[in-house]
Amino acid sequence: MNAVVMNAEWSPRPGYTLSERERTSRKATMASQVYQRPVFRWESVPDPTPARDEVLLAVKACGVCGSDTHCYESDDEGYILFSGPVRMPCICGHEYTAKVLEVGPDVRFLRPGDLVAAEGMLNCGVCEACRIGRPNQCPHLEMVGFSAPGAYASLIASKERFLWKINGLAERLGSEQLGCEIGALVEPIACSYNGMFVSAGGMAPGSHLAVFGCGPIGLGAIALGRAAGAATICAFETVPERLEVARRMGADLALDPRDCRPHEAIRELTGGWGADMLVEAAGAAMQTMPEIEKSFAPGGKMVYLGRTGLRAPVLLDVLVTQAATIAGARGHVGGGCFPKILRLMERGKLDVAPMITTRMPFADALGALHKSTDRTDGKVMVYYP
Ligand SMILES: [Zn+2]
Ligand SMILES: [Zn+2]
Repeated sequence: MNAVVMNAEWSPRPGYTLSERERTSRKATMASQVYQRPVFRWESVPDPTPARDEVLLAVKACGVCGSDTHCYESDDEGYILFSGPVRMPCICGHEYTAKVLEVGPDVRFLRPGDLVAAEGMLNCGVCEACRIGRPNQCPHLEMVGFSAPGAYASLIASKERFLWKINGLAERLGSEQLGCEIGALVEPIACSYNGMFVSAGGMAPGSHLAVFGCGPIGLGAIALGRAAGAATICAFETVPERLEVARRMGADLALDPRDCRPHEAIRELTGGWGADMLVEAAGAAMQTMPEIEKSFAPGGKMVYLGRTGLRAPVLLDVLVTQAATIAGARGHVGGGCFPKILRLMERGKLDVAPMITTRMPFADALGALHKSTDRTDGKVMVYYP
């Protein structure tokens, strides 16, 4: 079969010391420290051969993730931007939905013809992190499209335990294809869900929500805030196209932070109270933290989801005076993230369709990756005709 394979040179940065595990497994824990000069190209690769407990899937849709963009792009020294774990070469693509073609003899619940959304984080299920309910922190994690074969291919194999049925979503939308494209948004939205409702413990109906950054994670946070009964949602983003999508997803106020003082906008919208929950999905902590620290409502919670390697300036005293909390989170598995988002989608209670702003056929997957670098889209979706 044909697949989009990403490759790069194994060339640890001067001053970066490889761990023994990195050297022997050739899996870089922080890819941005090790992989240089990325190349994405079509290659002919063997079809996957599913194990006894795996299913063979025909991919139907796969979103382009910010992390894919961060592997596609490189910095001034030629190193890829993505700081997560990567083993190259690897078929990329992980935000996918698919149709079950064949099931192995040990597969219990899935049947040929089922439509599924897939988790992208292959946690081991056996280690202490997995067994205490922290699967996103599994130290043995393999990531679909980064260290395990991804979905920019016509076929992929997966264990049943990483798949969720989306037959009901396709039925409700009256179209397999549409169901699969909307279903492929569950993964990024689940990252927002995991941060807001699992890690930070959620927000009560009637809360004021502020979202910094309106890429897919921030847009997911807006949609979930709406579904959870936010009184107001205030969103900040520098790209005009994304501000427009934020409004369509339910933001009451969507502003360019360069045209305003975000903490003043939040105080004004909330009658002086401040934000009960603040989501950082901009990866711009240097700019957002000084505003966030002035925006907390009493007992307010900040959810940190955007990533940056830089130290952020923040006056931690606000955690005392406002009894505020900063919660961090990575990933989208466990905590009921996938099934609960699917329940909302299947019942028409989470309208995320406006997030998909560009659709491209699988034959143009390289074009889709390139399109994502302009950062004007809510989500670039690749579909498989
Ligand atoms: Zn992703
Ligand atoms: Zn584990």
